[in-house]
Amino acid sequence: MSVSVSMLASGSRGNCAIVSSASTHILVDAGVSGRETFKRMKALGADPHSLAAILITHEHSDHIYGLATLAKRLRIPVFMTGATHQAWARALRDERGEKPKLEKFERFESGHRFQVGDIEVKPFTIPHDAADPVGFTFRAEGVKVGFATDLGYLPVSVRDHLRGCDVLVMESNHDLEMLRVGPYPWSVKQRVMSRVGHLSNEALANFLINDYDNSATFVVLAHLSEQNNHPEIARREAERALAARGGLFCNRLLLASQTEALQPIRL
Ligand SMILES: [Zn+2]
Ligand SMILES: [Zn+2]
Repeated sequence: MSVSVSMLASGSRGNCAIVSSASTHILVDAGVSGRETFKRMKALGADPHSLAAILITHEHSDHIYGLATLAKRLRIPVFMTGATHQAWARALRDERGEKPKLEKFERFESGHRFQVGDIEVKPFTIPHDAADPVGFTFRAEGVKVGFATDLGYLPVSVRDHLRGCDVLVMESNHDLEMLRVGPYPWSVKQRVMSRVGHLSNEALANFLINDYDNSATFVVLAHLSEQNNHPEIARREAERALAARGGLFCNRLLLASQTEALQPIRL
């Protein structure tokens, strides 16, 4: 088997990852600049021109910042829901009111699986304050990979989609106490904590203790807040939760970084 996951960047300043089978490479979100995406791929020995498609979870700038540039340079299909595409185009409208165009736009619908090369993609709805936000699961060569970041809580439907994953990329956005006493204005704190905001370390720990099926060889903590979290606190919370399940030794815990790409996770 030669499925791999490369976390190029993760956090509120930009998200970008690659999911690969032996023959197909997919970029998941394009939240850092085109130049930085190329740089980080090359640092891992990956060729940007080998990418088959770009998939977008939602239109917040930390997920689409580099999209227009990357789509233009790579001329590969960009997959989004119709509502996400509209919201993206509205946000990027120029001063003459003209909307940007994607050369190869592919629309998908949440809940409907589709194929990119030999990777099967299943998008699913997540609770977040964007037009039509989704998480993804990917299946190739008998391996399942799940991505769930940017979500206020974990509804039963999302927990169901995440069963049986060999790699689980999960949001561990903030420590509730750090957020409470931190520098954000109260309105922003409320947004982050809301049912359509971001997942706290504590909420993720609850999932790991009560719902997680212990199937993942790798659990990746992602989208950590730089203001309201600390990697060691996020790691400790997740380790404690996995240990409570007796799963600490079956799951390798990794932390995705904002500033540098992680070495590819290979299965
Ligand atoms: Zn978001
Ligand atoms: Zn985000």
